[in-house]
Amino acid sequence: MKIKVGISSCLLGEKVRYDGSHKLDYYLKDTLGQFVEWIPVCPEVECGLGIPREAMRLVMFNNDVRLVTINSKIDHTERMEKWIKAKLKELQELNLSGFVFKSRSPSSGLFSAKIYSVDGKLLGKSSGLFAKAFKEYFKDVPVEEDGRLQNPWIRENFIERVFVYARWQELKKVGLTYDKLIDFHSKIKLTLLSHSPVHYKILGKLVAEGRKNNKVYEEYLYHLMEGLKLRATVKKNTNVLYHILGYFKKNLDVDDKNELLEVIENYYKGLIPLIVPITLIKHYVRKFNIEYLNKQFYLNPFPMELMLRNHV
Ligand code: SF4
Repeated sequence: MKIKVGISSCLLGEKVRYDGSHKLDYYLKDTLGQFVEWIPVCPEVECGLGIPREAMRLVMFNNDVRLVTINSKIDHTERMEKWIKAKLKELQELNLSGFVFKSRSPSSGLFSAKIYSVDGKLLGKSSGLFAKAFKEYFKDVPVEEDGRLQNPWIRENFIERVFVYARWQELKKVGLTYDKLIDFHSKIKLTLLSHSPVHYKILGKLVAEGRKNNKVYEEYLYHLMEGLKLRATVKKNTNVLYHILGYFKKNLDVDDKNELLEVIENYYKGLIPLIVPITLIKHYVRKFNIEYLNKQFYLNPFPMELMLRNHV
């Protein structure tokens, strides 16, 4: 079954923008769309504002951010907030594993919605009303904006988080137990290490002391998703690759070991992408049937067809 991910409707090519246009993103619709079921959401149309409609923006009135039409100055905040309240409950039923928001929109922008003063001065950027409410309601669900996803590091990070979160949801569906948490943790260790050695330690301690902690599952998920937000840099990935090399000590002859070392070093120097050492390592994991590595999410974080590790 495909995992469900929310998306601003206009990114799928739906003609729902204020002027009846769309903002189709081919990568999201056609490439990532092969592996996820998109759940489209257009706050402005769904709250009843129609197509076409007057363009809106966020305006600060006495420390309160309002959604106001640009020319006629009609305040749609209450209408939008009422719709948001009901929509969040509806989305909860769907168990989304992530959400991709349309940048710059006063309703859907996640980081880049502009806020103006009453007299039209730009005050800064923040989240649109729906995006803000979504991230407060679904605190652990991975969220991103379309514009930022053009960056291969951000794209890889977001999609990896979506697939990790979906794995956690699967676990929850069959029933979380302490033993299942230990098993999940052992599979995600290398992924975690590639993002944040600090969170690797925090989560290790949390799991080790988990039997005494009745909030262990929610604390685990919180720290896991926070840790994964940190970028898996070349340096951190290289550290993980050397760590993996240690598991082949007894299996590889000198030539094969030197070849793998050279590949890792070339990755560190930026001469080849991450997919190259990972492919060689997967070959050895299969050949020598190394169980601990075989079950690591790090070696299979998302479908290969997305080609995300070809660019980092
Ligand atoms: S940015 Fe959001 S509100 Fe605007 S058209 Fe797209 S989905 Fe609708």
